[in-house]
Amino acid sequence: MKCDSTLYRAAPPSLAVKPRLIRHLFLPPLIIALMIGLGYIGFWVSEHYGIRSLSENGQRQLELHARAVESEISKYTYLPSLLELESSVSRLLADPSPEYRQTVNEYLEGLNRRSRSRAIYVMDTTGRVLATSNWRDVDSYLGEDLSFRAYFQNAVRGQPGRFYGIGSTSGEPGYYLAHGLEEHGKIIGVAVVKVRLEAMEERWQRARLEAFVSDENGIIILSSDPARRLKSVLPLSDDTKERLARSLQYYWFPLNELQPLAREKLAEGEEKLTFPANSELVSDEENISYLSQTRPLSDTPWNFTLLTPLQDLRREAVNQGILVAVAFALVAFLLIAWNERRKVIATRLAAREALQEANNQLERRITERTTDLRASNERLKGQIRERRQAEETLRRAQDELVQAGKLAAIGQMSTSIAHELNQPLAALRTLSGNTVRFLERGQLDVASTNLKTINELIDRMGRITASLRSFARRGDDKGQASLGNAVDAALQLLGSRMESAHLQLQRDFADVQVQIDQTRLEQILVNLIGNALDAMQSQPLPTLWLEGEEFDGKYRLRVRDNGHGIDAEARKHLFEPFFTTKPGEQGLGLGLTLSASLAAATGGHLGVEHPASGGTTFVLSLPLVSPTPAEPI
Ligand code: ADP
Repeated sequence: MKCDSTLYRAAPPSLAVKPRLIRHLFLPPLIIALMIGLGYIGFWVSEHYGIRSLSENGQRQLELHARAVESEISKYTYLPSLLELESSVSRLLADPSPEYRQTVNEYLEGLNRRSRSRAIYVMDTTGRVLATSNWRDVDSYLGEDLSFRAYFQNAVRGQPGRFYGIGSTSGEPGYYLAHGLEEHGKIIGVAVVKVRLEAMEERWQRARLEAFVSDENGIIILSSDPARRLKSVLPLSDDTKERLARSLQYYWFPLNELQPLAREKLAEGEEKLTFPANSELVSDEENISYLSQTRPLSDTPWNFTLLTPLQDLRREAVNQGILVAVAFALVAFLLIAWNERRKVIATRLAAREALQEANNQLERRITERTTDLRASNERLKGQIRERRQAEETLRRAQDELVQAGKLAAIGQMSTSIAHELNQPLAALRTLSGNTVRFLERGQLDVASTNLKTINELIDRMGRITASLRSFARRGDDKGQASLGNAVDAALQLLGSRMESAHLQLQRDFADVQVQIDQTRLEQILVNLIGNALDAMQSQPLPTLWLEGEEFDGKYRLRVRDNGHGIDAEARKHLFEPFFTTKPGEQGLGLGLTLSASLAAATGGHLGVEHPASGGTTFVLSLPLVSPTPAEPI
């Protein structure tokens, strides 16, 4: 099935290429930009939610560790006030004699050992140390004036003295808890417990916890990272520095600010801090970010800060960002692939639809044409029917014409037939009369001879009427005839005319079998020979040539006479019905017409030639029944 190629004509190139070019130019940078953008968003969201999750977890840790710090500090809160109950202490404060001092020294030494504090000592109201647990040490506080210490000043006023500082004697940091010792509602001295809190730092380090405790001045007093110790988390003005240096709270240690590279406040008590890389702690040179969570410690003006490193989170967030970018790239790739496939499918569908449409059109056309063909077929059938009817009518008319021609020929021949029959009849009459007389005379031989002659005459008359009957009989298109017999029959029929004309007959043909009804062939020959006889009436030496030859599966019989010939005008109308040059009743003008149509009806032909020597030649061609095979050359 052929399809209309115009249906599949591609879109004009300018229309098809432009959007594709634009797509190819802009799509990759767009995808890369979106990848970066979405990757960053992925990173940001992951970090944000990671920090939130860390923060929730950190809050619990913060609470846990802050309480641990609080319990560590509060453990010693009541220790100094216990000394109020010790009578030796009151005695010493009332009478600072060496004996009492020694007693209290030993008592404090034992108490210090049991309570695992750093030192316990008792001061009088002037701030002088009267007895101490470390009385045996070289750097013992004994006799020292510590009235400048803030914890003393608070305690002597009846307030709880809390103080973190570096010892002025030992240079060792410690937590000082002071309590004003009362007797009868009057403060008679101050008891101080110095506690070391470094154990907490060690615990943090063991637990890999990053944490610190900053005091009321913002100075980090306890830190898991020693580098941060005694750094200020608050901005330090020169005045503050000066004031703190004078107080000797931090001995002579230089005080610096803990300066993060970046500080981002996330919530109340929550910050994101970024510190520069510390080559001692971190092998690579990355800056370190922390989630810093701070909570005040109860009973103290201190704050506990928990630092949660954000490197892992950051790495995770970077991974998430990369994952999002890659996922987007994958989705984009899949979308592009899907889109391309969709387009291919759409194109295929369109082509299939176009094909279907073309097919439908073709089928419609085929149906239309089939209908047309059927209609024209019907018309043709009708025409064939009409033609057959016309042929039938024509054939019938032809038969009628043949019959009419025969009747005409019979009419023409009737005179000569009558003459032909009259002669034997007259002879018969004479012979029969004579025979009667010879019988009466008894001349039986002569009578017998006469009777024989009578028989012969009767046979002759019978032959004449038989040939006349066969001529008048209707013929058939089919059948086969012997040329020799047909010529003989025709000559027989025209015998009397030929005799009277003294015709010379030249026969030169073969007795072949031709495809035509015998009677019809006889009719044709009677017509042709009869016409030749008519044409040669005034010819002194009338001669008729019957010459035959085989040619191309047919047999050609030439009937030539040396008659008057046919003039130019008559030649034009020779085969037309009812054309005749014969006067009166002699000619009907049907002979040649009928002969030609009879020859044609069997596939033969009747033609005419006009020899230069004069006369006329009619050429009758008829198909042979069994043509002689062509001789090999
Ligand atoms: P008809 O014999 O009745 O005239 P035909 O059809 O047989 O009708 O012949 C038509 C005419 O053709 C004749 O009238 C005659 O003029 C011419 N014709 C036929 N045969 C010959 C012939 N052999 N020689 C000359 N004229 C002929």
